[in-house]
Formats: sequence, structure tokens, C-alpha cells
Amino acid sequence: MSSDIELTANWLRRAKSAVVFTGAGISTESGIPDFRSPGGVWTRHRTVYFDEFCQSAEARHEYWVQKTEAHVEFAAASPNIGHQTIAQWEGQGRIRGVITQNIDGLHQIAGSRDVLQLHGTAREVTCLDCDWRSPVDPLVNQFRETNEVPLCPECGDGRLKHATVSFGQVLPELTLNRAHRWCEEADLIITIGSSLVVYPAAGLPEAGKRNGAKLVIINRDETGLDAIADMLIPGSCGEALSAINAAL
Ligand code: NAD
Ligand code: ZN
Repeated sequence: MSSDIELTANWLRRAKSAVVFTGAGISTESGIPDFRSPGGVWTRHRTVYFDEFCQSAEARHEYWVQKTEAHVEFAAASPNIGHQTIAQWEGQGRIRGVITQNIDGLHQIAGSRDVLQLHGTAREVTCLDCDWRSPVDPLVNQFRETNEVPLCPECGDGRLKHATVSFGQVLPELTLNRAHRWCEEADLIITIGSSLVVYPAAGLPEAGKRNGAKLVIINRDETGLDAIADMLIPGSCGEALSAINAAL
């Protein structure tokens, strides 16, 4: 076993307020492509910005076409050894919880309880006009059958949108505040499968490091925070997490 893995396991064993921070890379081993992979749904379509969604019925239809296509990938995916290891660490009291940029809900399905979803969730739909929320499945099915953007059953004609943060939309304030507090109070932050270039999310581990946390980065490629990391573990998220777990 490499000394880097053993040292990381040591830090985790001794940590009092460790936090895990994940990005799309943790879910690629579950079959959901990351942002930059060729062929991912994000590369096949043009981006529908939040203001367009709010203002144009045509943009809302285009958005629902894209999200319905992406839904197939999310619905077929199940958690991998990476998600499961993180859930196990929370159950054992080794970490405080998970901050994630992902919208796939796989951490919760794996058993993680305290999950801060910075970019929301694709497993729910919300009404922009009255805040009504619903699981996504029946509404996606309705859209498939009718090819018409569903309207809010609660307020009558409210605009329904997946409960994710679109480009140009603000992040959920309470979630972001909690995530900031976790990082500022953390003594160890392990980032997993994130390029750490998407802000404000990437600013969280950065702030934690500034406040004295050790920063471990597990990622296949370079990240935006490699220069300030205490430990870089290149390669597969699943393999790295399994190895750290075995060394605990
Ligand atoms: P990103 O695509 O910018 O970065 C993902 C990183 O993971 C890359 O640097 C890549 O090298 C690495 N990676 C991919 N597979 C890996 C593996 N098996 N092992 C180790 N590393 C691996 O993703 P991001 O930084 O999370 O930001 C993209 C944005 O797009 C996010 O804000 C997120 O909301 C959204 N997104 C979400 C999902 C999801 O929910 N699963 C998927 C794609 C994009
Ligand atoms: Zn409504």
C-alpha cells in the first residue's frame, strides 16, 4: 500500500471534523458522464440559461427535452464503491457529511444522510412560482407522453423546472452557507472527482484550507487547487477510496 494512502487514512482516523466534497467524477464509475466527457448530455445540447427558461416557452420546452434525455442516464445509475465508502464513513462518524456539486442523488441512495447539494437535485421538480415540489418521475413521463411542458398542479399555471441550479441561477443560499461553515470548521477536506474550477463551489475547499484544514485531492486529472493541496491522489475515485478505507 502506498504511503500517500496510509498517510491520508491516518489523517482521516485522527480528524475531528472531516468533510468530503464531490464532483461529477465520483459518478462516472456509475455510468453518468462528467461535464467534460465527450458524448455526455451536456456536450450534446446548447445550454438553456435561467433567464431564457423564465421568459420563453420555447426555451422551457427545449430544457424539458434535454432533461428528459438526461433522466434516462440518472434513472439507470446506481451508487458505486466510492459513494458507498463515503456513506460508510458518515455512519462510522468519521466525516461530518458530504458537500456535492452533483445533481444525481447517488450519495443519498448509497446511504449518506447529511448531503449538501450545492447545485440542487435532478430527482425533483419545483415550481418557480409557488415552490411546490414533486419527485421527477411522473412529470418526465407526462412530458414524454404529451410533449408539452407540464404546469404546476398547485398554483395552476406555474413554471415547473428540475430542482437543479441552471447557468445564471443563484445557488441555494442556506445550503451554501452551511457548506461554508462546514469547510471553515473542518480539519480535513477530501475532494473527490471534481476539477475544482467551477465557482463558487470550488471556493469552499479553498476557504477550508485557508482556515487550517488539510486538503486531500483525489482526481484523475489536474485540478484548479492542486497547487495548495497537502496530498494529491491521482487515478480512479473508486480505487482510491477503497484503498484508503482498507488502510483505516
Ligand atoms: P467536472 O466535469 O468539471 O470535473 C470532473 C472531474 O472528475 C474531472 O477533472 C475528471 O478528470 C475527474 N474524473 C472523472 N471520472 C473520474 C474517475 N472515475 N476517477 C477520478 N476522477 C475522475 O465536474 P465538476 O467539477 O463536478 O463540475 C461540473 C458541473 O456539472 C457540476 O457543477 C455539476 O453540477 C454538473 N454535473 C453533475 C453531474 C452529476 O450529477 N453526476 C454530472 C456532470 C455534471
Ligand atoms: Zn406552482
